[in-house]
Amino acid sequence: MEKTVEILNRHKTPPAFNAAAFSGDGDKWVTEIDRDMAVSYRIKKRIFSKKSKFQDIEVFESQSHGRILTLDDIVMLTEREEFTYHEMLTHVPLSAHPCPENVLVIGGGDGGIVREVLKHDCVKQVDFVEIDKDVVDASRVHLKKMWYDENDKRVSAYYEDGVEYVKKKENFYDTAIIDCTDPSQISEGLFSRDFYLSLKRALKKNAVFATQSQSPFYDAEFIKKLHAGLRDIFVYVRLYLAHVPFYPGGCWSFTCVSDTFEPSVVRKVKYGRLGTLYYNEYLHKSAFVLPEFVNKIVSG
Ligand code: SAM
Repeated sequence: MEKTVEILNRHKTPPAFNAAAFSGDGDKWVTEIDRDMAVSYRIKKRIFSKKSKFQDIEVFESQSHGRILTLDDIVMLTEREEFTYHEMLTHVPLSAHPCPENVLVIGGGDGGIVREVLKHDCVKQVDFVEIDKDVVDASRVHLKKMWYDENDKRVSAYYEDGVEYVKKKENFYDTAIIDCTDPSQISEGLFSRDFYLSLKRALKKNAVFATQSQSPFYDAEFIKKLHAGLRDIFVYVRLYLAHVPFYPGGCWSFTCVSDTFEPSVVRKVKYGRLGTLYYNEYLHKSAFVLPEFVNKIVSG
């Protein structure tokens, strides 16, 4: 048994609990340990590291997954597979709405969501609200594949807490996308009842919004509470799933919400013209078809 662990765990120095390990010379791996699991990537080198006011930001060049962004030792994305997450969190709410013009993006400092939003011609304004400018600055320089066209005049960036930002808006957005880190000191407010009440005010009556909503395998209680809270405030609250290889378990959930539109219905067919690698209109519908254990989580 001990030998198996030795063979599988190839770190020179075993990673600390819940921490990314960077082993120094020789065979280098970066590992995210999440509860009783770990995901590791073989690394060529660390290319960026900074302790910002909010979190530890690191970018690694991996052997076969492109660049990898970690925040507080948690993998945010691998360049090789990031399309799965960014396309599904963006194109589902934007396609469930017939014509989203004003779009709010909260979090998403790596740029991936804004890049996807800009593929929709009907979008006229994108307000991008990220609490940590250092994540934006690092991504702009070190994750160019993720970065959006900054010459696109539709985007305005704001560096502040999304919870505070939405309080200032009323009846303005057609779509909102919350791409925040797992519930933590800085992001937990983005899953709170007060935030959703403010967001409801900031959205137009027929708006659609989506948030990442953690793992259906490992965060069932979180999802249950989130959905119960959202159902108190909004009419349609729907969970959908996608394969996201860089998050624990490889299957991730998202929640799409509206007072007017059933989120699983595609209203704005852009299939083909979006140039997506994962999303299409058939997958949009099927992503809302849930395994029984997930139906149980969301059925209250
Ligand atoms: N889904 C990705 C994940 O958890 O792996 C999220 C990636 S994206 C880089 C998450 C971003 O949300 C981070 O850059 C973080 O700074 C930002 N964020 C966290 N809390 C926030 C808040 N309250 N307001 C605005 N942005 C926030």
